[in-house]
Amino acid sequence: MKPAPFDYIAPRTIEEAVRILDEVGGGATVIAGGQTLMPLLNLRMSQPFILVDINKIEGFAGVSRVEGGTRIGPAIRQADALKDATLARHLPVFVKALSHVGHHQTRNRGTIGGSVALGEPAAEMPATAVALGATIELTSVRGTRMVPAREFYIGPYMTAIEPDELVTGIVYPDWPEGHQVLFREVAQRPGDFALVGMVGAAVIENDKVARAGLAWFGMGPTPIAMTQLEGALIGKSLDSLDPDALAVTAVADTAPFDDHHASAEYRRTVGRRIFAKTFREALSLREPA
Ligand SMILES: Cc1cc2nc3c(=O)[nH]c(=O)nc-3n(C[C@H](O)[C@H](O)[C@H](O)COP(=O)(O)OP(=O)(O)OC[C@H]3O[C@@H](n4cnc5c(N)ncnc54)[C@H](O)[C@@H]3O)c2cc1C
Repeated sequence: MKPAPFDYIAPRTIEEAVRILDEVGGGATVIAGGQTLMPLLNLRMSQPFILVDINKIEGFAGVSRVEGGTRIGPAIRQADALKDATLARHLPVFVKALSHVGHHQTRNRGTIGGSVALGEPAAEMPATAVALGATIELTSVRGTRMVPAREFYIGPYMTAIEPDELVTGIVYPDWPEGHQVLFREVAQRPGDFALVGMVGAAVIENDKVARAGLAWFGMGPTPIAMTQLEGALIGKSLDSLDPDALAVTAVADTAPFDDHHASAEYRRTVGRRIFAKTFREALSLREPA
């Protein structure tokens, strides 16, 4: 199928882009890597009057260090982010999760901002933003606002982005050097969206958990922060941690569903197992007797 006719514009500045979004209202759609949007256009599930291509906006594909964190430009290609030295050094959890997003071919075009903005519940990047405590920068003619990732995802493919707003950056707070990388997913084939996945970081100081940020993907209508688990972990000594019991707490925050890939019960069971295994390995905890 071919898309319905649309106008195309590729602004060079954020100001120009948000002015167009403001003028056209809901009739404009942003295109970044097009890996999701192009099929939707071809199937005529999306029929914008104007396609606003953000790839030519100056400085939109950069990575920079900001006070207390790292800022990622929305139009950076996933393949470029995977090779970025700043991200490798400061955001190892992000890089680990990104390596599981799609395939070489989709990562060559797909962007970080596109993945964050799309809000696919089984995707790695939204859950990583939630786990690490990232903030999404949204810009419109009305100004710029910062929305914590934990408040950004409202439902399946539903986010806090208003029709006249553009994601203009994603800011990830620093995690201390040497923090633990916690990541595991189960998918039918490499490159498929996960059936169940978990991502996060933990900081251990003096054999105690000083900080933890974790989230699920594929376990409900949005990425889901493991808030009960985080609360249960902080201040606990490594000796006292029982990964199997923690896995039960971690899954308590989820709301998985049955679909043609897997049942909710399968997702809960696999979720508990991957959580316990990942936690035990990352923190070198003892196997149960
Ligand atoms: C075969 C295949 C396998 C895939 N596997 C995975 C996978 O395993 N895991 C995974 O996470 N993803 C996967 N994807 C998705 C893909 O990797 C992209 O992350 C995703 O399509 C969105 O990025 P994009 O840059 O292509 O966005 P686009 O398709 O251009 O846009 C997606 C949506 O986001 C909006 N948008 C984009 N940028 C902005 C912005 N800056 N501000 C506001 N709105 C914006 C668009 O309007 C559109 O609604 C797969 C895709 C394919 C085709």
